[in-house]
Amino acid sequence: METSEIIISGDTAGTEWRVPVFRFKGSDAKAPSTYLQAALHANELPGTALLHFLLERLRKADAEGAILGDITVIPQANPIGLAQSHFGEMQGRFDLGSRTNFNRDFPLIALSERETLLEDVARRPAAGRLKRMLLHAALGADLVIDLHCDDESLQYAYIDDAFWPEAADLAGALDMQAVFLSDGESTAFEEAVGHAFKHQGGEKLKSVPGRLAVTVELRGRRDVYPDMAKRDADGLWAFLAGRGVVADPAHAAKPYTGPALPLDNIEMVRAPEPGTILFHRTIGEQVKAGDLLATLITRPGAADGTLEVKAGHDGLIATRSSARYARRGDDLMKIACHEATRKDRKPGTLED
Ligand SMILES: [Zn+2]
Repeated sequence: METSEIIISGDTAGTEWRVPVFRFKGSDAKAPSTYLQAALHANELPGTALLHFLLERLRKADAEGAILGDITVIPQANPIGLAQSHFGEMQGRFDLGSRTNFNRDFPLIALSERETLLEDVARRPAAGRLKRMLLHAALGADLVIDLHCDDESLQYAYIDDAFWPEAADLAGALDMQAVFLSDGESTAFEEAVGHAFKHQGGEKLKSVPGRLAVTVELRGRRDVYPDMAKRDADGLWAFLAGRGVVADPAHAAKPYTGPALPLDNIEMVRAPEPGTILFHRTIGEQVKAGDLLATLITRPGAADGTLEVKAGHDGLIATRSSARYARRGDDLMKIACHEATRKDRKPGTLED
């Protein structure tokens, strides 16, 4: 194993960011290469815990000669966001200086243009430079997994159509409860990787066998526990074994039995008015159209001071807000529905 650091000068004198990178050299040139990253949204730490335990296993495998494909692991990808503390709370999702999401504005390029990412990179602000260096590292691999998490959430993933159903092995290995099939039009990290994989010269490819770009949502932000992280590390190990990245004679593939739904089937349940949230239902529950999901106390103390929020469609509650006060329009839940719930969505991601 080789360890190095991506070093990024800060945007003010006297600061510098360091991102540790762990690289394993595979023994089989034909085995797929892999890039694993966590905490690009710096306050999403289940993936950092997972990769910590996976690295333990990979080091052991390395000593035993069981690493077949090259593996790059960045367990904590965003020191800039990690350091942003405002009034006692980490602001890990948006870069405070540029007000941009750390997981948006990745350049959409063809795979052959990979080296252009590093052109003039030293003249870019730190957050932009970080994005380009991470994307450059990822585009050197065949299989790219970006580990995130939601607020309160089931285990699920966003997977571009181009990699489905081949990627069902990952969904099975990580015990996912839902897969959302995205349409690859945003500038999120995973979609920039997918864009490059689909544009390898000539026509845009509809499917890209042997490649993968995925955003895994490892449950909720508070789901960071030793047993959970070790189980997830075992799951990711099993995926790597199934793809022939590591050798594991004991490996047995686990089929994926959950739903795989287009983003149009996600009902975003929003607060129509501001108020204190009383949830009646939680993640993992199946609901029917018309079921009461939450009561909002919009005018506390008034006889008619509440508002009921009901499900618009049958489906599975995949995520729920951890906040207990909703501003007008805030997202309360995502429900994975059996049918399309909307026609107004722009292609790409569900959230800003
Ligand atoms: Zn995220």
